[in-house]
Order: sequence, then C-alpha cells, then structure tokens
Amino acid sequence: LFSAVELAPRDPILGLNEAFNADTRPTKVNLGVGVYTNEEGKIPLLRAVREAEKARVDQALPRGYLPIEGIAAYDAAVQKLLLGDASPLIAAGRVVTAQALGGTGALKIGADFLKRVNPNAKVAISDPSWENHRALFESAGFEVVAYPYYDAQTHGVNFDAMLGALNSYAAGTVIVLHACCHNPTGVDLSEAQWQQIVEVVKARQLVPFLDIAYQGFGDGIDSDAAAVRLFAAAELNVFVSSSFSKSFSLYGERVGALSIITDSKDEAVRVLSQLKRVIRTNYSNPPTHGGAIVATVLGTPALRTMWEQELGEMRDRIRAMRGGLVERLKSAGVTRDFSFVNAQRGMFSYSGLNSAQVDRLREEFGIYAVGTGRICVAALNTRNIDVVASAVAHVLK
Ligand code: PMP
Repeated sequence: LFSAVELAPRDPILGLNEAFNADTRPTKVNLGVGVYTNEEGKIPLLRAVREAEKARVDQALPRGYLPIEGIAAYDAAVQKLLLGDASPLIAAGRVVTAQALGGTGALKIGADFLKRVNPNAKVAISDPSWENHRALFESAGFEVVAYPYYDAQTHGVNFDAMLGALNSYAAGTVIVLHACCHNPTGVDLSEAQWQQIVEVVKARQLVPFLDIAYQGFGDGIDSDAAAVRLFAAAELNVFVSSSFSKSFSLYGERVGALSIITDSKDEAVRVLSQLKRVIRTNYSNPPTHGGAIVATVLGTPALRTMWEQELGEMRDRIRAMRGGLVERLKSAGVTRDFSFVNAQRGMFSYSGLNSAQVDRLREEFGIYAVGTGRICVAALNTRNIDVVASAVAHVLK
C-alpha cells in the first residue's frame, strides 16, 4: 500500500524550529516561528485566561459534546468582536458563526463550504501570503492564483497592481484578504485603500474571505476589524476566519471561528445548516476547553477588561521592539533606512534581508529567520535585541 508513497516536503518553518532546537549556542534567537513571546522569551499564559480556567476547573463540568457549531455564547462574542456590539447585521440574525479549530480550521470549513456553493470559482490569495492559504484552498479542490500585494522597492503595497488583478477576475472568484497584520509582510492597506477594494469586490461580484488572525495586535480590537466592518457595511456576503491563537495566547487549544454574512435571517438558517454538514463530516464538533475560556473572558466584564489590557501590553511590546530594532540598527552604523519596520503591523516584518543574509545570520550568529527575510518581531525582547541588531548590521556590511 505504501511502497510508492513519496516523502512529503518538509514544512520550512517547522524545519527551522528543529534546527533551532538542535543549536547549542546560548545566544541563539528564533525569529522564524509565528508565536508571541514575552520579555522572558516565553509564550505567556494570560492572567484573564488563568482566571477563567480556574473558575472552570472548580466547576468540574462534564465534558459532553458541544453543538456542531460550538458554544452559542462564544459564537455570539466572536460576532461582536468582528462587527461591533451594535451591529445591525447581528441584530437582524444575518450572521452565521461556527466555532472552529483555530483560524486554520475556520479556513478549512469555509473552503469546503465554498466548494459546495461555488464549485468552479478560483481562489486568489495575496503575493506573498501565509504559506498555508494556498495549500488549504487547493486541498479543498480550488485552483489558487495570487494577486500582487507586496512591493519590495517601497516596502509597501503595490496597490495599483492589486486593484488591476482584482478587476481582471471573473465574478465569483474568492479573494482571500488579511484583515489586519498581514502575514508574512506586516504591511497593511490603509482604510481608504480598503474602501477601494470593497468597491471593486462589489462591482466585480467577487467573494471576500477575510482572514483575521491578529485582531488586537495592530492598533486595537475595533480598529483592526475596520476592514471586516467596511465589507459588512457594503452589504456583501463576507466570509471571515477568526483565530484567537495569538490574541489569547491559546495556540494549542485551537480556538477560532468562521463567520459568514448572509442576506437575511432565513438565508442564515439555511447557510448554517449546510455549514454544519461540512463540520459534521470533518470533525463532528469542536473541543470544549478553549472555546469555553474565550467565551468566559469575553462575557465577564472584569476578565474582558483584563484581557484587553494584556492584549494592549502585547501590542505595545511588539511596537517597542520594532522601534528598538530600527534605533539599534542605526546606532550600529547601518545606513539602510529601516524605518519601514515601524510602519508595519502585527508580529511580522518583511525585513528586506535576502536569503544569503538570512543564511549568514543562522550560521554565524545562531539567529533563525525565514529565507524570505520574514522575521517575527514578537520574538524580540530587551535581552536578545542587541545581539540581533548587531548580527543584522554585520551581515549587511
Ligand atoms: N491565518 C493567518 C494569516 C495566520 O498567520 C495563521 C497562523 N499564524 C492562521 C491563519 C492560523 O491560525 P491558527 O493557528 O489559529 O490555526
């Protein structure tokens, strides 16, 4: 049965982790992996999460199956995070949300559902994009193309080319957009640019699929959802995949959600019924723990305040590290202007380092980054930032 099975290519980022773990240099730094670590270099367990967990353990609840679409309070809280407390769409019962296995799981059930309702469509992702986007949609049976996005010359968005590509797609094409904190580049659209994208998507009858994996890591919970809200206000059928892996530091608990904006309450009921069939045949129903924790935090005013504060601390720390890196590179004598790093949002930065420089960082200094030059700014802290800055300065000479 398996004699002809070929070895699948290694995941480049996980491969990087293995090499990092095997490295014995005490000053090694892993800027490759996409997790937020705190000043101590550890993945934090948020205080709000700990409080919610304590309360949950004390209740000693039975672990029955959840409904297929997950915890109702969780789904409702997700909708409010995305669309705001006063959303008329929520009030009208037009938004469908299903708890999912992280952002990845949300993308997967969204892709499978789309394949049923829109089987001949192509899917367009940004160039570059999170490396799993293409594979996810291809494995759901879609042809995946890429629209121009990042402009290496300006460290910004090649917006005209992006608009041009969107204008060239057939009606029904699914456009995957990073709602905030673009992974891997850190480069986001401005609100005015988003508005133009919304108009093209509407005019060309494209299908927007917004991936929001870093809500609260850019500028704040509401401002990071601005793109989602612009699409919602345009009366479009929007798919949104949410992830709480980063914003709650609950990576392994697999907490995410898929939300879909429909035209009416009646449509919402029908869409949810079909989405549930997709979920049922994938994994039946989601796990209890992570969803219950997030629902408790979002639904308990004191914990919610605590979480927002902790989220703000993570956001501020990342910003401080961006500023710190730019400053240190300058004082290490680097003449290249790195100020674009300050304008980027979220955990990542397309640093502009080339693959030869990334190789030198790893080999000579034990600093691990992705070959594209993507670095995880959220892995910097005041103990490792000097080492990183001086190593980068060295390979730039
Ligand atoms: N979308 C993007 C853009 C991501 O960067 C990630 C993961 N970091 C995900 C989705 C998947 O999130 P999760 O880990 O919750 O599955």
